[in-house]
Formats: sequence, C-alpha cells, structure tokens
Amino acid sequence: MKKRTKILATIGPSSDSLDMLIQLINAGVNVFRLNFSHGTHEQHLIVLQRIHEAMKITGLVVGVLQDISGPKIRIGDLKEDFFLEENDTLIFSALEILGQQLSHNVYQVSINYPEILKQLNMGDYIYLYDGTIRTKVTEINEKGVKVNVENAGTLSSKKGVNFPNTRLGVDVLTNKDKKDIEWGVKNSVDFMAISFVQSAQDMKNARAIVKSHGGQQKLIAKIEKFDAIENIDEIIEASDGLMVARGDLGIEVPYYEVPNLQKILIGKANAASIPVITATQMLISMTKNERATRAEISDIANAVMDGTDAVMLSEESAVGENPVLAVETMSNTIVETEKFYKYYRYSGYTNKDIGDTISESAVRLANDVDVKGIFAITSSGASVRKLTRYKPKKTIYAITHNSIVRGQMSLLWGVIPLMSVDESSLQHVVNKFMKRGLKEGSIKKENSYILTAGDPIGKAGSTNMIRVISSEDMKEFT
Ligand code: PGA
Ligand code: MN
Repeated sequence: MKKRTKILATIGPSSDSLDMLIQLINAGVNVFRLNFSHGTHEQHLIVLQRIHEAMKITGLVVGVLQDISGPKIRIGDLKEDFFLEENDTLIFSALEILGQQLSHNVYQVSINYPEILKQLNMGDYIYLYDGTIRTKVTEINEKGVKVNVENAGTLSSKKGVNFPNTRLGVDVLTNKDKKDIEWGVKNSVDFMAISFVQSAQDMKNARAIVKSHGGQQKLIAKIEKFDAIENIDEIIEASDGLMVARGDLGIEVPYYEVPNLQKILIGKANAASIPVITATQMLISMTKNERATRAEISDIANAVMDGTDAVMLSEESAVGENPVLAVETMSNTIVETEKFYKYYRYSGYTNKDIGDTISESAVRLANDVDVKGIFAITSSGASVRKLTRYKPKKTIYAITHNSIVRGQMSLLWGVIPLMSVDESSLQHVVNKFMKRGLKEGSIKKENSYILTAGDPIGKAGSTNMIRVISSEDMKEFT
C-alpha cells in the first residue's frame, strides 16, 4: 500500500515480540517509539535487536525513536486512595512523606520535584491525574503549598501533576534522561524525543549531551508545555523535528486550543522543512475496541490534511488489544485521505538558500513534466527535507550512501529511503542506481524521472542540480 504520511507505533507489552514487529512493519509502521518512561535498558535493548531482525526479515527500513521521559512530575505514594470532593484541601508537602488523609476534608501528598513548589503563586492552577482533578493554590509557606480542590475525583499513588501557569525552573533533562541518552547513542537510535521542552536551551543541552557521546541523532522537541508554545520559533531553530504532544499539551493549555495549535505547529515545522509528528489519543478507543470512533478517523484524516509528516500510536500499539488492527486502521485512513490531499504547496514559504529554490523548482518540474518520481541523491538528508515541504504528489526516492541518514529519512513525508551502491562520482552513482532499478523492475524505461543531486557528490547541503531523466535517456542505462 502506498501512503505518504508516516506512522509511528509505540512498542510495549502488546507489540514487542518479533512476530508482532514484523506484522506491524508490514501493516505500515515507519518508525517505532521506545518509551523510556517505562522499562530497563536491558528490556529496550532486546526490543531494539528484534526491530533490527524484523527489518532484515521484511527487507523494509524503519526508524527507531527513543522517547526521553523528562521530568514527569508525580505525587508520591499514598497510604490509600483519596476520594476527593469539591472544596477539600490538599497540601503538597515539601518533605518526602507518605500521602494520607489528615482530617475529614484535608489530605497531604508529597511530590517528586519539591523545588517546583517554590515557583508557585497564589491563584495558580495545579492539575492532577491527567488533568482530571483541578486545584487552585490558596496558601504558600516553607512547609508546602495548600490548594483548594475544584472538582471531585479519585487520586491514587504516583499520579501525574501539571502546572499550567508555572515555569518549572528545573532542568528538563534529569540524571536518568542523561543515562538514557548515552544508551541511545551507544545503540544508534535514529531519533530522540525530548519531553517537556520549555525553551531552545533545553534542546541545546540535549544536543550537547548527544555530541559528548559522539552521537548524531535527530532531536525532536515534544511540544507539551505552555512555555514551549511561547518560545516555539527559537525551539524550531534548535530542533530537527517537532511532536505535537497533545496528551500533556491539552492539560497545559485549555483543551479547546489544541486543534489550532496543532495547525500552527504543523505549519511552522513544514515552513522550516523539519518533520512533525501528531501524537496521542488518535485511536485511543482501539486500545480496547475493534472499531475506531468516527471522530478518531476524522482526527487522523485532519492531521494528514494539516500537513503532518507522521501520526503516532501510543497505548493503542503499546498495551492495546490489537496493535496490528490499529496500524491498519491508520494506514487505510491515510491512503484514502491522500486521495483528497492538497499537493503542491508553495505559498507562504520563503526560500532562504539555493537548496530551497532548487527543491521548489524540482517539485514544480515534477508536476509540469509529469514524471513518475523524484530521485534525490543526498548525503545529509537536508535536500530531501526541503523537497517534502512542497508536498509533491510524486514519490521522493531518497538515495544515500549513509545508513544513519537513511534511517533518519524514515520519518519524512512522501519519502522512500534507499541506499546507494557506494560513494563515488555522481555519474557513477546515477548509473549504478538506474541500471539496478531497471534490472529489478522498480524503474521502468518508458517512464520519466526527476533527479536532484549535488555535484561533486558527498558534500552535505550542496544540492546544485536538477536533471530530467526522460524515457529517451533510459538508453544510457541499459
Ligand atoms: P507522552 O508524550 O506519551 O510521552 O506523554 C506525548 C503526549 O504528551 O501527548
Ligand atoms: Mn507527554
């Protein structure tokens, strides 16, 4: 099945066997997400080895995204569940204590980042348990922070806490994250997603750690905090991709703002020629049910139309009843939506360098001459990223001699990543690639193609030529 929008699937207990990984790849997964909020290094390594095995067996390229968990703020353990009522009082203690009920309607909990309590102001909101319990700060002293519970709900141990009005003032990369990043570099993951990014500096810090271990992973900023929205332009400049992380974002900002923010973030990522992933609850009902809701199908279709590079499954594929069916549902919806897609998007983009202009021209030419596909020879993947922002209807076959770059192109909209035979002169690479394609039947001699490349080959960001390979020219390669 040919689809242009890519699919990410989070791996978990429902999907981590070799057999499942193979089925998921065949159903249309392009990138697997390893969620480092759960699991040990040993467990992740086993899954990673199975992914490599599954790639060999299917003969298809998939990328691996390591999701770095960041400072997920949680309450501590509770002696027993709290059945909170409206107007109850909850105390966030600055000390490490076992959470418990103190009197009829007063409860006390601890928090894993007590330093955040110092950043709070009177009247700030604090949300608990994925935003289901809303509380407001009524008293602050050195022992902790008192809040008024504004709606009833049950609270249990280790539930998440969100501070939508508060700049956290903590380093978003925890010590655990730093060790996880080292693991990711050592095991050559393709992408790392950085959680709860607040500013460009957070991305720069992550990049410095990756570099210090000798890595060249692509770094994706998860946009899930209100201050990330405020600082989005500088974050984009410091990132290789974005994730619209709607789960936490929908708690950090009013939930009804999320659809507009999704459109804004996708638009900005497209304009900057960096990939963007739309994530969370896309098919959440399929975690338990066989059929998605109509609203979920529309959500996927609308994210595709917005111009997202990829859509993501979380619980659906990690702990769901039928991960393969979830991927098939996503895949079918994408293919159908792409029949109705607005291809060839040129407006609103500024060309900042020759690479941008070459890419735009190549895409226009591909449409005018009605070629079968675009061959892009790339050493860094940059020229391919530039091509994708114009959303050509023609498939982009990205040819590189660098296996790291090939893996990193798995996320790019409309791109099929391929390996070239070797790294030598441009003419040599084109000759070999065309001959092999013609022989294998993937290239047809009656078709025409567009080729973009940098001559001499092998220099990053040096794309300087477009060639039309017409059916006439095919003789040269037979
Ligand atoms: P998570 O990120 O699944 O790691 O929380 C995605 C989101 O918040 O939407
Ligand atoms: Mn999140």
